[in-house]
Amino acid sequence: MSECTLCSEDTGTVLWRDDFCRVAWVDESAYPGFCRVILNTHIREMTDLPPADRQRLMTVVFAVETAVREVCQPDKINLASLGNLVPHVHWHVIPRWEGDRCFPDAIWAAPRREGTTPRIEDIRLRLSTQLTQALPG
Ligand SMILES: [Zn+2]
Repeated sequence: MSECTLCSEDTGTVLWRDDFCRVAWVDESAYPGFCRVILNTHIREMTDLPPADRQRLMTVVFAVETAVREVCQPDKINLASLGNLVPHVHWHVIPRWEGDRCFPDAIWAAPRREGTTPRIEDIRLRLSTQLTQALPG
């Protein structure tokens, strides 16, 4: 049986969690505020979840989007669910700036420039405070 990294480890600093999913902050200076919302159980696709659980997960994704917008003030948010390498439902919530290294391409594209993004003080604390206020648990 192959190992799934999202089942076996936290992959990032967990800012919030409940028995259903977790929010992990990706400490990535090129994209400050980048977070992942990760389902706690190994499910392959959103449509493998019952509708109520899809809604529950997206409620968390949108709470993270709101927190990242308020704390980081990006030019744009990218939401992505890929999972080609790790087929375990998770969402990327990625703040984008027009001057970041890949804009307007996806962050996984070849960089176009060195890139500049703001330095945000106390980012981890501010994101976790926002999430704790927005979400139960
Ligand atoms: Zn898994």
